[in-house]
Parts: sequence; structure tokens; C-alpha cells
Amino acid sequence: SVRWGLIGASTIAKQFMIDAIRAQADGEIAAVMSSSPERAEAYARENGIPAAASTLDALLAADIDAVYISTTNELHLEQGLAAIKAGKHVLCEKPLALTSADARKMVAAARKAGTVFGTNHHLRNAGAHRAMREAIAAGRIGKPVAARVFHSVYLPENLQGWRITRPEAGGGVVLDITVHDADTLRFVLGDDPVEISAFTQSAGMAGGGLEDGAMCIWRFRSGVIAQSHEGFTTKFAGTGFEVHGSEGSLIASNVMTQKPVGSVLLRTASGEEGLSFDREDLYTRSLRQFHAAIRGEGQPSAIGEDGIWSLASAEAALQSSKTGKAVIIDPQL
Ligand code: NDP
Repeated sequence: SVRWGLIGASTIAKQFMIDAIRAQADGEIAAVMSSSPERAEAYARENGIPAAASTLDALLAADIDAVYISTTNELHLEQGLAAIKAGKHVLCEKPLALTSADARKMVAAARKAGTVFGTNHHLRNAGAHRAMREAIAAGRIGKPVAARVFHSVYLPENLQGWRITRPEAGGGVVLDITVHDADTLRFVLGDDPVEISAFTQSAGMAGGGLEDGAMCIWRFRSGVIAQSHEGFTTKFAGTGFEVHGSEGSLIASNVMTQKPVGSVLLRTASGEEGLSFDREDLYTRSLRQFHAAIRGEGQPSAIGEDGIWSLASAEAALQSSKTGKAVIIDPQL
């Protein structure tokens, strides 16, 4: 079996990842770490986790094979490096760190140590996005020309904390959501972004100089251009993902989400067709691939390099919004 240690008594672990680990035939959660002993105990009790730790050393000394890191973003780097040093496999939340240079350090350390490293970009596990990627690869829309991503949501009240108040924790919508759009665009298009231009705003929710809305324009290596909208303050916008090609368009609705929902429409000269796709839980599929990678079978659905790409893209978007200029995206891989 794979024995997991949770680094971070987080909402995402409670809502999705604990279940996803336990959904694996060989998945077990052995311990949880919180910076507060009381919160660690309470979280362990509420989630049926046998051991609670309040230091990283104590967690890493437990009998575990892998860690899932879902603390606030500024902590991922040192916790990831320590876990790798202790020989653990690491599934790390996005953004991998606050800078792509730090993310490269962590990914390089895992490579050197020979441990499995994954980035928890859940959206590439969605049936909808895999169906779009396959349709494009099969030539069903001809040559892709442009993409549009609608990913502006309303940040739920229970999450209106560090994301909108703490720049030093890696708050802001770009590190939170633009990274997902970068990864999903790369995955669906099978292409890498080379340049980005972004406007950001503070539309009334985020403080501390943080942005709670962003619009980005992307250029991809193949020449495809894309636009993406990320936000925390739009209650009624809905989400979507479109790719338009020379012979057809893929129009997906309600697919930039944590749940296996939504629809994908293919529109061509022969009319409209809804694509069917599997509705497996995104995080469960991610964990299954991660467990397989531990057994030496394939790779996690999003590897460390994917997390470096998404963070380098977000970094470039933030730089663009500051300078008013388009910025080259260079993950230095
Ligand atoms: P939370 O705010 O729920 O948790 C982050 C940290 O905040 C925890 O590690 C915990 O610290 C502390 N914390 C949580 N609840 C409390 C509380 N009641 N009182 C005091 N401190 C508290 O963050 P999220 O779960 O929303 O996000 C965690 C990470 O996961 C981020 O990196 C985020 O980007 C990523 N994420 C990824 C998603 C995905 O789908 N891939 C979705 C959502 C988040 P401690 O551990 O020390 O107790």
C-alpha cells in the first residue's frame, strides 16, 4: 500500500484529496501535519486519520511513502525539499512555489533523488478536457487557430482568507487560477505558450495590493492565440473553454471546475455533436496515475515540469500587468 502524509490541514484535502487517496485500492492516509497541534489533532479526528503531527520533522519521521502538500503557497518549497530529502514521493499543490526558479529547484531535487513528483493540476484529469485534447489531436477541428478560457468565479466565503489578503503567502487570482488555465491550455492544445500580455484588477474583494481579476492574452508556439479570464468576484459568469480551428470549433461549458461535470460541443460543417466523456472524479484519477507512477508505470498526470510551466506563465502575466508590456514565457527547462 501507499501510505500518505498530509502536509497542511487544508480545505482542499478535506473536500477532495482525502477521499481520492482512500478511493485507491492501495491508498492509506497515515498522518496529517498542521502548524498548530490543536488543529492537527482536530483535523485528524474529524477525518479519521490515525496520527497528527505539528512539525514537518515529526511528519516525515512517520512511516509514510508519499506526501501531499496543500499548505499556503509560500510553504510548498521548503516542505517539498524536506520531503524529497527524506525520500518521499511528493504530490504538490499549485503553484509549486512563489517563483518558477524555486519550483525548478524542487523539481530538480526530486529528479536527483529519484522520487515521484507531481503537480496537482486537476483539470487535465477531467473527461471534458481529455475529450477536447483527443478531438484536436485527431484533427476534428482542423488546424487550431484560437482558444478562449472563461474561468472567473466567485471565491466562496470560507476561502476568502489568505488568497485575498496575504501577498507573502502567494495570494491573488493569478497564482490561484491563471496557473490552472496555463496548464489546461497546454494540455488541450498540446502546445506551449511563448508570450503573454495581462491586465489585472482589484475589483473590491482582494486587499494588500493583490489582484482578484485578470485577463490574459497568450501566444502559443504554433501561432495559436488565446484569451483567458480569471476572477474571484463574478458570481454569475459560469465557466467555459473553447478552441476554434480551421474546420471546426470545440465549445465546452461548465468545465473549469473541480467536479466531473459540463458539456463539450463540436461544431463543424456537418453540424453539431455533443462529445461524450467519462465522469470520473478528477482527483481520484490523478491519484491513480500517481500511484501507478510510484510502481514505475508511467508518470503523474501533471509532472513537475508542468507545474514549472504554469508558474512561469503566471509569473509572466504578473510582470506584464505591472509593466504594461507583453512578456516572454520562459520556464528555463
Ligand atoms: P486553506 O486555507 O483551507 O488551507 C491552507 C492552510 O491554511 C492550511 O494548511 C492551514 O494551516 C491553514 N488553515 C486552514 N484552515 C484554518 C483555520 N480554520 N484556522 C487557521 N488556519 C487554517 O487552503 P486551500 O485548501 O484552499 O488551499 C491550499 C493549497 O491548495 C493552496 O496551495 C491552493 O493553491 C491549493 N488548491 C488547489 C486546488 C486544486 O484543485 N488543485 C483547489 C484548492 C486549493 P496548517 O496546515 O498549518 O493548519
